[in-house]
Amino acid sequence: MSGEAAAVLLRHVSKHYQRGGQIVPVLSDIDFAIARGDFLALMGPSGSGKSTLLNLIAGIDRPSSGQILVADVDIATLDERELADWRARNVGFIFQFYNLMPVLDARENVELPLMLTSLGRRERRSHAELALEMVGLADRMDHYPNELSGGQQQRVAIARALVSDPTLIVADEPTGDLDRKSAGEILDLLEQLNGELGKTIVMVTHDARAAERAHAIRHLEKGELSALEQREVA
Ligand code: ADP
Ligand code: MG
Repeated sequence: MSGEAAAVLLRHVSKHYQRGGQIVPVLSDIDFAIARGDFLALMGPSGSGKSTLLNLIAGIDRPSSGQILVADVDIATLDERELADWRARNVGFIFQFYNLMPVLDARENVELPLMLTSLGRRERRSHAELALEMVGLADRMDHYPNELSGGQQQRVAIARALVSDPTLIVADEPTGDLDRKSAGEILDLLEQLNGELGKTIVMVTHDARAAERAHAIRHLEKGELSALEQREVA
């Protein structure tokens, strides 16, 4: 795959953590590309480095060596401020435990990423409301996180991830804390973001049922990635 066709391109990426005098190697010489509009599931045992890899792709963390290009931007060349700005415009995050702010209602939680943009108050509000309508929560906009079920909180988190219209969405165990029915609804939404809005999605999951919704699966083990398993897309 050429660089131009890729949404995400990793070249010889390694990552270790330093703890005291000790070096903890996590990823070793990872080389792979994710095509624009793809939906990739990343699987692997606990501690294998899935979250680390996702955080590198999303520009939350930096590699120890190697190069990461997202939408043709070499994110290693950005300083902290540029990186934060780039992230706000290009990447949406979904976490296992939703990471909503408990003191903000659903609408305000979804508005948060827009605080880093030049949008005015009224525009932020209407963008947030549109995103909440998209995830089926038009009737829950002024509910606080503790007034929502887990599945609803995750839908608020999805609205927050898509409100800035990013090209890339990363999800770290998005269904890990949900019952089967709510998990299914979250996966339906991710499928919709990918299929209808063309978002590139990278989803870390333990759950084979969740991984089945992706177009392709890679396994991470002992710091190395398996070959791509392309799935039949119905
Ligand atoms: P996974 O998401 O696959 O469970 P992680 O990416 O969270 O795995 O962690 C991979 C390895 O890196 C683990 O051995 C973990 O202990 C280690 N690790 C993660 N973050 C840090 C950190 N900030 N400092 C030191 N070690 C870390
Ligand atoms: Mg993890």
